[in-house]
Amino acid sequence: MADITCIRCGKTREEIEGTPYGGSIGKTLKEKVCNVCWQEWYEQSIKIINEYRISLRDQKGRDFLSTQMKIFLKLAPAPEGETAVQIEDTPSQKQRP
Ligand SMILES: [Zn+2]
Repeated sequence: MADITCIRCGKTREEIEGTPYGGSIGKTLKEKVCNVCWQEWYEQSIKIINEYRISLRDQKGRDFLSTQMKIFLKLAPAPEGETAVQIEDTPSQKQRP
């Protein structure tokens, strides 16, 4: 695997294993984000999906997650009115009706 200089951690590390996404975003991820940061995002994304009950069948859900991914991986500045969500490290015990 090729080494890339990661836009998020600034280190030169292995590129993402496999193809994370199709299209231009997938290409950008491979060029700019290391596999370590990608794994961190992967774990974070699962927490976000669980915490916010995001449905990836919804365009809205996919857009939300895609925005969060770009913020998390520093691929883009947060759009106005949007901030990175904060997820606690401990598993959520919250029960929602
Ligand atoms: Zn990195």
